[in-house]
Amino acid sequence: MAVRKATTHEAWRSCIACRRQAPKPALVRIVCDAEHTVRIDPGGRVAGRGAYLCKCSECFANARRKRRLEQALRLSIADNVYERLGREFSDLCCLNMEEDRIDG
Ligand SMILES: [Zn+2]
Repeated sequence: MAVRKATTHEAWRSCIACRRQAPKPALVRIVCDAEHTVRIDPGGRVAGRGAYLCKCSECFANARRKRRLEQALRLSIADNVYERLGREFSDLCCLNMEEDRIDG
């Protein structure tokens, strides 16, 4: 961890489902905020314990199935919360799929 200069503005995080590492903006942050509400944090600015997932519905499904999200956020997540998160997550994935296509 001697190289500090190269990582000034892009922190890398790993997806809690597949463990793949990616620059923070390429991942979706899910946060447990001060009111213990679990939600998607598209800007990555909400204070609280966060977990990162690839922008891929498969990773969301795996995180749910393997309870990785609950482990990462250290709380239990009800089905209705997962359903809400899943909807927000897929909205985000749809938006970003278009951007990804432009990039190649
Ligand atoms: Zn992943």
